[in-house]
Amino acid sequence: LPRFEAGDLLAIVPPGSSQPRFYSLASGSKDGFLEICVRKHPGGLCSGMLHGLHPGQQIAAFVQANPHFRPASGKAPVILIGAGAGIGPLAGFIRNNTDKYPMYLYWGGRDPASDFLYEPELGEYLADRRLTQLHAVFSRVKEGGYVQDRVLDHASQIRRLIENGAQILVCGSRAMATGIMHAVDGILSPLNLDVQTLKLQGRYREDVFGSA
Ligand SMILES: Cc1cc2nc3c(=O)[nH]c(=O)nc-3n(C[C@H](O)[C@H](O)[C@H](O)COP(=O)(O)OP(=O)(O)OC[C@H]3O[C@@H](n4cnc5c(N)ncnc54)[C@H](O)[C@@H]3O)c2cc1C
Repeated sequence: LPRFEAGDLLAIVPPGSSQPRFYSLASGSKDGFLEICVRKHPGGLCSGMLHGLHPGQQIAAFVQANPHFRPASGKAPVILIGAGAGIGPLAGFIRNNTDKYPMYLYWGGRDPASDFLYEPELGEYLADRRLTQLHAVFSRVKEGGYVQDRVLDHASQIRRLIENGAQILVCGSRAMATGIMHAVDGILSPLNLDVQTLKLQGRYREDVFGSA
C-alpha cells in the first residue's frame, strides 16, 4: 500500500458492482494496520460484504488521498464532531495527538449498550490526555438526544474555543452535517462569524457521506 493517513479514503469495489464505495480511514500507514469503521446498510452490497468477512479473507482496495480532511498543524484546539461510523477518522486523529494539543470530541450514537464505538480507546485517550473532553450522546435512551443538541448545550465553550483559533472537523451523514452547520452558525453569530467564513479560513472541514 502507499502511504496513507487517518482521514484519507479507502475505495472498495464490491463484487456485483462497478462503483467503488469509499470508507474514511481511521488509521495511518505508520500505525501498521488499516482500519475503517463501517455501518451495515440493510441490503447494502459493500457494507454487507465487509461485515461478512472472516479473518484471513482478502479484498482488493485502493487508497485515495483526502488531504483536506485532517487537523491543521499547530497548537490550536481541534473540535471533532461526528455521529455513527463517522467516528472512525476522528478516533484516528485523537490516536495521533501524541503532542496532546487540546482536542474535544462530540459524538452521537444510538444506544450505549450496543454501539458506543471506540469506548475503550476513548477512555485511554482521555486518561493520557490525547483527548481533552469527550461528549457522547445517544438518541435511543431516556432523555437522549443528538450530537447537534450536545453541541448547542456547549455553545459558550465552542464560541470560546473558536475565539482561541480552534478548527472544527465534522464526519458522518449529510443530514447530521447539515444540522451541525446550522447549530455552529447560531453559536458563532454573536462573534459576527459563520461557518462559511471558517471554511474559507480552512478552519471548518467536513467528510460527509450518504444521505442517511
Ligand atoms: C467520502 C465518503 C466517505 C465515506 N466513509 C464511510 C465510512 O467511514 N463508513 C461507512 O460506513 N460508510 C462510509 N461511506 C459510505 C459508503 O461509501 C457506502 O455508501 C455505504 O457503505 C453503502 O454502500 P453499500 O454498498 O453497502 O450499499 P449499496 O448497495 O450501495 O446500497 C445503499 C443503500 O441503498 C439501498 N439500495 C440499494 N439498491 C437499491 C435499490 N435498487 N432500490 C432501493 N434501495 C436500494 C440499500 O439497501 C442500502 O440501504 C462514505 C462515503 C463517502 C462518499
